Amino acid sequence: MRKEIQISVSPEQWADKEELERIISRKTSIDLKYLSYKITKQSLDCRRKPLYHVNVIASSNNDLPKTDPAPFLNVENSMDVIVVGAGPCGLFAALKLIQKGLRPVILERGKDVERRKKDIALYFRDEKINEDSNYCFGEGGAGTFSDGKLYTRSNKKGNIDEVLQLLVYFGAKEEVLYQSHPHIGTDVLSRVVKNIREEILRCGGEYRFDTRVDNFILRDGEVIGVTTSEGEDIMADRVILATGHSARDIYQLFYDNNWQIEAKPFAMGVRVEHPQQLINEIQYHNKSYSSLLPPAEYSLTADNTDRGVFTFCMCPGGIVVPTVDREGIMVVNGMSNASRGGKFADSAVVVTVEEKDGKDYQQYGPLALMKLQQDCERQMYHKGLTCPAQNLLSFTDGKTHLPLALSSYKPALADTDMNFKLPEFIYKNLQAGFKSFDSKMKGFITKEANVIGLESRTSSPVRIVRDKITMQHPQLKHLYPCGEGAGYAGGITSSAIDGINAANKIAEELGV
Ligand SMILES: Cc1cc2nc3c(=O)[nH]c(=O)nc-3n(C[C@H](O)[C@H](O)[C@H](O)COP(=O)(O)OP(=O)(O)OC[C@H]3O[C@@H](n4cnc5c(N)ncnc54)[C@H](O)[C@@H]3O)c2cc1C
Repeated sequence: MRKEIQISVSPEQWADKEELERIISRKTSIDLKYLSYKITKQSLDCRRKPLYHVNVIASSNNDLPKTDPAPFLNVENSMDVIVVGAGPCGLFAALKLIQKGLRPVILERGKDVERRKKDIALYFRDEKINEDSNYCFGEGGAGTFSDGKLYTRSNKKGNIDEVLQLLVYFGAKEEVLYQSHPHIGTDVLSRVVKNIREEILRCGGEYRFDTRVDNFILRDGEVIGVTTSEGEDIMADRVILATGHSARDIYQLFYDNNWQIEAKPFAMGVRVEHPQQLINEIQYHNKSYSSLLPPAEYSLTADNTDRGVFTFCMCPGGIVVPTVDREGIMVVNGMSNASRGGKFADSAVVVTVEEKDGKDYQQYGPLALMKLQQDCERQMYHKGLTCPAQNLLSFTDGKTHLPLALSSYKPALADTDMNFKLPEFIYKNLQAGFKSFDSKMKGFITKEANVIGLESRTSSPVRIVRDKITMQHPQLKHLYPCGEGAGYAGGITSSAIDGINAANKIAEELGV
């Protein structure tokens, strides 16, 4: 017998496995002795007393549905497909190619995740950036050192469950399959990335690290290979371009060759950081909230501004890190471990940047918004890794000067009037936006929080044009621009889905 039920349980009941099983047994009338069950959905409702709403499939004869991925084939002697970039888009494309019987050759400008971690440690020690191995570049892509949030708004674009199931298969916890806001954490994500590599190599796929692609090799309008930074030509019949939105040299390559690209609206602003405890108290409506509750999250949109102002990529229990990929700029983002056990809660707070905002950069055509983004990052630079920041209360009222609050950011923040660092339309909209947030989450504006700049790599400021059906570039046949860098995805999950879609398209076209 199999039954599907919905239950609502307290955090205490959720944390007590035996009690949970007793509740499921009672509700399904399946004897505890014969009960097997699978949770299919879980969400936390904190509107009143916190409750977990849980969907369960229960069985009395151990016949629960399985979620194993399609088999990974031996592709040693199969047709090569070049995958440029080992971020979520490139890696999930490579896995799908293998499932379809094609051999991925992954070219990655950065290093494997182990050596990449060392470069990041050196960056903190010497304050000198390795431009090909950092928080943006290297195995696993931009999201390797992240909170690893796995939800996406682009549900219609593909199979989210397939991505989540693959992540679990390669080492993520089962819970990402059923949580309403799943996240992996940087500690687990880097293991998952390594496990994916081992599987790809085992099947006969190839990785080349420290290999930057600088150009495409063309014959009669078809891409037949790529040229690397070492001047080597690598040939293949199909090329997936999954270079992420920090690969500005790739956009420049398209621009210089008059290959179609477009300016794409994106968003820019700051990261706000509060004590996690304060966010818990606001969200759980109580100073003495249950210690069994997870670090609280929020997601806010302002309703008093003439532009979209919204929070994005919130990291409960996380830290703010400098996601810099070249000298002389400052960019920040947030990351956390699976436990989300840190003392701070940080989130991007960003303002939409529209095409009209690139008016001072019109000479760069479709790169105008990228140039604006670049200039804002330079403007935010202070010295080395020291990062401009301002007390949130001073930022929002624009008059008083309060000292900086405590922060997770290392090595140091520089107390800065952000009015002089941000474009006016961003500064003013952020000020108004924070007031709107405070009306929705009382206590959000506080002297215990800082704004930290700049949050600029939210999504791509450029779109690489591709055909809606074939996914190929109109002038560069057999080139598949994909993922966040091509402007068709935002975040880990949707980038992975886009990579899977491209690999499926190639397999379909090659008839395998
Ligand atoms: C600190 C941080 C935290 C984040 N947190 C989250 C989160 O919690 N949840 C979420 O959904 N998203 C998060 N993101 C965003 C997420 O990481 C990206 O949306 C996602 O990684 C995009 O995937 P991608 O594969 O398209 O590109 P990327 O991940 O950017 O990967 C591109 C890869 O291509 C390589 N590359 C670039 N140029 C070349 C070249 N010329 N030749 C060879 N290789 C090249 C790069 O080194 C990189 O490895 C975060 C990002 C950062 C930086």
